[in-house]
Amino acid sequence: MSDQSSPTPRTAEPEQRRPSVGVRIGKVTVGGGAPIVVQSMTNTDTEDPASTARQIAELARAGSELVRITVNTPAAAAAVPRIRERLEMMGVEVPIIGDFHYNGHQLLEQEPACAEALAKYRINPGNVGFGKKKDSQFAAIIEKAIQYGKPVRIGANWGSLDQSMVAALMDQNHTRAQPWDAALVAREALIRSAVDSAMRAEELGLPRERIILSCKVSGVQELIAVYRDLARRCDYALHLGLTEAGMGSKGITASSAALAVLLQEGIGDTIRISLTPEPGAPRTGEVVVAQELLQTMGLRAFTPLVTACPGCGRTTSEFFQELAKAVQGHVRERMPEWRVKYDGVENLTLAVMGCVVNGPGESKHANIGISLPGNGEAPAAPVFIDGEKAMTLRGERIAEEFIGILDDYVARRYAARGA
Ligand code: SF4
Repeated sequence: MSDQSSPTPRTAEPEQRRPSVGVRIGKVTVGGGAPIVVQSMTNTDTEDPASTARQIAELARAGSELVRITVNTPAAAAAVPRIRERLEMMGVEVPIIGDFHYNGHQLLEQEPACAEALAKYRINPGNVGFGKKKDSQFAAIIEKAIQYGKPVRIGANWGSLDQSMVAALMDQNHTRAQPWDAALVAREALIRSAVDSAMRAEELGLPRERIILSCKVSGVQELIAVYRDLARRCDYALHLGLTEAGMGSKGITASSAALAVLLQEGIGDTIRISLTPEPGAPRTGEVVVAQELLQTMGLRAFTPLVTACPGCGRTTSEFFQELAKAVQGHVRERMPEWRVKYDGVENLTLAVMGCVVNGPGESKHANIGISLPGNGEAPAAPVFIDGEKAMTLRGERIAEEFIGILDDYVARRYAARGA
């Protein structure tokens, strides 16, 4: 009997990106086929320009290509141009996005320097205004965006749905022969809130090239369903994110699960991972997760990643775990300098393995790999460079010597930029 099934592809490839209208935000492009942009948000008090500028700089240096800040009070709006000045003094050019709720129309009117200093405005159609004021306040913000030449993200959110839209859709639903369930009506309200607001912004004169949409929810399956639907119904650039993802491994897992499915389907032009930081933990964790998500999916490369085995009973030593951590830490520390000096270094692959079972094989797949000795193995650590065994390390200084080999390789292999 002949096998008529088609051969299994060697690897899964992301589907073609959904076509979207590109939006320029300062020097960054979102959508229109541009690489998927990583963004983040500060959690400092925007009224304090020093701490806010410091955190924006940290996020930018970690790799955030856009940074959003809360603009919630007149003092916060007044601080925005001072934050921009401080960043310029630090040599940080990252575009700053202003996050407005309830009073954005007033703040943009009262603080022209804030309206000018921000690279984009984010508004939520569910809380831009209520009752009769909703339309006029929405229009006032869009008019400011037109006046200052800024793009706008219209970001609907499950937690602040436009209740008048929900009520209208519920009434309409009652007239259906087979009414939708409440969750479907709410999803429709979320999408309609974003899309109808974008169309209204266009009617007011904001070009399509200055509109980004998002529809955030906190459930993984719901987010996937909402964005699949949203992606089918418009060609605006899309901001992806699971809102209120949570803390630690739960937040990382939930965000990655939801975003990976959508990114694999070609949906999403910019991403934010909304992690709740552990007390005292740096805010930059959300940037690292966003970069690693895109990089491990093969969608972008930011920094060399280390493949490391999980360890098992064949190696009771923790040395390989410490070495993997030291190598990843070294790479992250050197990356700001390497990125400037060496073209393509972000594609470097590294492996740190715990014993002979998978060590040499995995190490050969990396640009540089090391296979440490497991229990009962000779105390020697072969190093593989570009698939060939290059040397064997022994003794107390294996970590330092391996990092030295890595530094030499980077300097030799990657062309100096501008050379
Ligand atoms: S490489 Fe060796 S130590 Fe690491 S998980 Fe595999 S068998 Fe265990």
